[in-house]
Amino acid sequence: MTVKIPDQVISCSNFINGAWVKGEGQSHSIVSPYNGKKIGEVFPPTIDQIKIAIKAASAAQVEWGRTPLKERARVLFNFRNILLRDLDKISHLKSSESGKTFEEGKAGLMKGLEVLEFALSLQNMDVGGRMEVSRGVSCEYRRIPLGVVANITPFNFPAMVPMWTIPICLALGNAYIWKPSDKTPLTSIEIANALKEAGLPDGLFTVLHGGAETVDAIIESPEVKAVGFVGSTKIAKLVYTKTTSLGKRALCMGGAKNHIVLLPDANPDLAGVGISDSFTGCAGQRCMAASVLLAVGDVDKHIAKIFDRASSLKLGKDMGAIITRAQRDFLVEAIGRAEKAGAKILLDGRKAKAPEGMEEGNWIGPTILDNIQAGSEAQAVELFGPILSIIRCKDITEAMSIQNSSEYGNACSVFTNSGTLSERVIREAKAGMVGVNVGVPVPREPFSFGGIAASKFGSGDITGEHSLDFWSDVKKVTVKWEKQNDSNWMS
Ligand code: NAD
Repeated sequence: MTVKIPDQVISCSNFINGAWVKGEGQSHSIVSPYNGKKIGEVFPPTIDQIKIAIKAASAAQVEWGRTPLKERARVLFNFRNILLRDLDKISHLKSSESGKTFEEGKAGLMKGLEVLEFALSLQNMDVGGRMEVSRGVSCEYRRIPLGVVANITPFNFPAMVPMWTIPICLALGNAYIWKPSDKTPLTSIEIANALKEAGLPDGLFTVLHGGAETVDAIIESPEVKAVGFVGSTKIAKLVYTKTTSLGKRALCMGGAKNHIVLLPDANPDLAGVGISDSFTGCAGQRCMAASVLLAVGDVDKHIAKIFDRASSLKLGKDMGAIITRAQRDFLVEAIGRAEKAGAKILLDGRKAKAPEGMEEGNWIGPTILDNIQAGSEAQAVELFGPILSIIRCKDITEAMSIQNSSEYGNACSVFTNSGTLSERVIREAKAGMVGVNVGVPVPREPFSFGGIAASKFGSGDITGEHSLDFWSDVKKVTVKWEKQNDSNWMS
């Protein structure tokens, strides 16, 4: 379906204590990557407005923290139904501001709903635990909320990334502060309205716009107990360092440079589709996108399949746009630099034409660069666009050494028919998420999401079971009601 780009400018305020509050900070415009037209005006809050918002969140959290998990889950269940009802509307909006295709916008929201379903299942799964540890004495686990928690999210998944944490944090009894990307803030309007309609009490969900100033004010608020961040490695590290220096917990997901190991025995059809879709999906603007292809031995027939699929994509229909004109220009220049350094350009996205009527958008086509050298910009630097860099490797040992030279550790995949060789990649890859014959190895719920190395600062994961201890505390309760006659070393 073609993305319906808003034909009027959407005014984007802050959601504070259950109401939309126009920020008195410096406003800025949002333009659609599709056609360069203004579709929104955002009004970030002042520091005083942020303080008021967080105080309201903290006050609202007290009662929410006392509300039984099963009751909190009821609100989230309503939220799920509203998002499903409005799926198309939200998908059009988030695609308009981020440059995704409509189908990608929808898929991102569906993945967010999967996390919501995981959060709903906590009411039946996360039952804590209790046992009699000595005669008449019991120990018990109780999961308790932290209070107010905050999340800062990137442009590339305006709904999915916030939905990684919104349902889990709220289900666990926290109040949630969201600082959406300053490039894609409009989707937050739909998410906040859906939570309000679902019956979430005022104050428990807050949206504050802006950039570094807003983030700093959130981190420094005494009421904010934990900060989640998803974005580039540079800012992830910054937010992690600031937050933890204040004695607060932080979990900050950073950038990526994902490598795929392609072995000659791989199924060419599976590899062709899997690898092409991985580097072209969301126009390469996802932290799980394939970026480097480690081509081991003679895999030319596989590369031909990747080429065929990537070169058949139609811009604006099968592949979306790049978030900003500056980023699009950066990609064009990076291709030029690789060419100068000796790369053979198998597919040149610089030559791709913008879709009709969208000439002012930020377009570049899928690009395949062959004969890339290990250690070059095309291998080592996160470009964040639809560019696949091929490095020819003599064997799997060389491929794994290049893969593991990356500072990042988000994802790595292998395409092969050999269980033994795939197991070697799974074991040796320095990556938090590994795929076998899967181009985008995003774990499905309830398996958690998270990289390692420079792709993540902090411990645990941002979704799934491995996120629960980050977004809550575990209280240990030991109870005795009567004096016991049998004393032991504990008594
Ligand atoms: P970004 O780091 O520029 O921005 C992320 C967030 O930080 C935004 O909300 C932004 O407004 C805010 N921000 C910007 N400058 C800041 C500063 N100085 N101090 C505090 N906050 C600041 O990232 P982006 O360009 O929006 O997103 C793309 C990046 O996100 C890529 O590197 C991609 O790999 C990464 N990403 C990672 C994951 C993951 O799970 N590891 C998922 C999605 C995207």
